[in-house]
Amino acid sequence: MATEMNPPGDDVVDVLVIGGGPAGATAALYAARSGRTARVVDRGITSGALGMSREIANFPGFADPIPGADLVAALHRQAERYGATFVADRVTATRLDGAVKTAWGAKGAYAGRTMIVATGSMGRVAPLAGEERWVGRGVSYCATCDGYFFRDQTVAVAGATDEAAEEAIALARLAAHVHLLVPAESLRAAAPLVAEVERNPKIDIHRSTLLEEIQGTDRVQSLRVKTRGGPSSVLPVDGVFLYLQGGRPIVDFLAGQAALTPEGCLAVDEFLQTSVPGVFGAGDVLCKHLKQAVIASAEGARAALAADRSLSGRAALRPDWA
Ligand SMILES: Cc1cc2nc3c(=O)[nH]c(=O)nc-3n(C[C@H](O)[C@H](O)[C@H](O)COP(=O)(O)OP(=O)(O)OC[C@H]3O[C@@H](n4cnc5c(N)ncnc54)[C@H](O)[C@@H]3O)c2cc1C
Repeated sequence: MATEMNPPGDDVVDVLVIGGGPAGATAALYAARSGRTARVVDRGITSGALGMSREIANFPGFADPIPGADLVAALHRQAERYGATFVADRVTATRLDGAVKTAWGAKGAYAGRTMIVATGSMGRVAPLAGEERWVGRGVSYCATCDGYFFRDQTVAVAGATDEAAEEAIALARLAAHVHLLVPAESLRAAAPLVAEVERNPKIDIHRSTLLEEIQGTDRVQSLRVKTRGGPSSVLPVDGVFLYLQGGRPIVDFLAGQAALTPEGCLAVDEFLQTSVPGVFGAGDVLCKHLKQAVIASAEGARAALAADRSLSGRAALRPDWA
């Protein structure tokens, strides 16, 4: 796992975007079209609010309803066309002070002269029963980091997103057996991923199944699960990997370095700059925000233009009309 000990190397982009939903992807598009190097680190298309939406009918320019994941993928392609790059990774730590801002994920370290935080508000509200007790002793959030510890053992993956499906597939290469606990009726992952999960003989898919409690004595030994309409039951496992969603702004990786509002959203000024110079916010991670895709996109554009001004050395961000 990448840690804060791993430096990002020389690969410092102008605009490092965390989150690739409509806010982050549009920020990357605008940054790239301003001639800036832009990299987006994104956890997975269906991990975000737009990516998980079945159908979007009010995004301008799309006369026919479009699945949310298809719209996000189109936004990615549009930004890539102008040179923005996307990395599939989950950011878990950042360092915001200084001239270079750094983010760390499971796959590496990423650095930018400015940073735009666009991680949305699908963060989990509260931990599961037993979760905090067993972190590091059977509870994990990263198959790339911890999967090897579970080779030839039985593990569960909880979640319905692309990320959950990818991690289940990765774990099936190491573990003896993988139980995929899908809280929804079906996986919300991309069709090829769903097909790959379904045909993997080592993966058991449990649809409409909630994870109620993680149990153990000195480490995880079992899960209490409940399939809709049935009673709770106990599933013996050696470990569980969590990729669940909720309704809270995702700011944990900032670890208090940027100010938050009393509601726990990222606090920004009128130019979408956070309390840290050179670090901006856009989309549902903000509180004073109408939760609509077109508004998240517009804020991504504004944040990218503000980052561009800051990169040009305009210390005081001023509107064009001032
Ligand atoms: C069920 C549902 C239906 C909706 N319907 C509509 C609609 O019809 N019309 C409409 O306009 N709006 C709709 N919305 C609202 C709209 O989807 C959101 O306002 C919009 O997606 C917010 O964009 P965003 O980019 O801020 O966040 P998101 O779309 O949530 O994107 C955030 C991105 O950040 C990534 N991310 C999160 N944490 C990390 C991390 N630690 N590291 C790396 N990446 C990370 C996620 O993978 C995701 O790709 C709907 C929302 C929901 C939940």
